[in-house]
Amino acid sequence: MQKPGPCPKCGSSFTEGFIVDETYGAHGVSNWVEGQPVKSFWSGIKLPREKVPVRTFRCNRCGFLESYATD
Ligand SMILES: [Zn+2]
Repeated sequence: MQKPGPCPKCGSSFTEGFIVDETYGAHGVSNWVEGQPVKSFWSGIKLPREKVPVRTFRCNRCGFLESYATD
């Protein structure tokens, strides 16, 4: 996937990255899942099987974030 741009807020360019998920001693990449969050007693929220990793671009000037969840 190509970089988005220019930034809709300030007109500058984006740098690709991702949002880090941090849990007890581990790191991961945020995922997109379909639907509304459903509470679970054991794990916080129930997760559907299908997850799509989220790629996020950050504007180099103003910090605006633009995210994409593509396979
Ligand atoms: Zn910007």
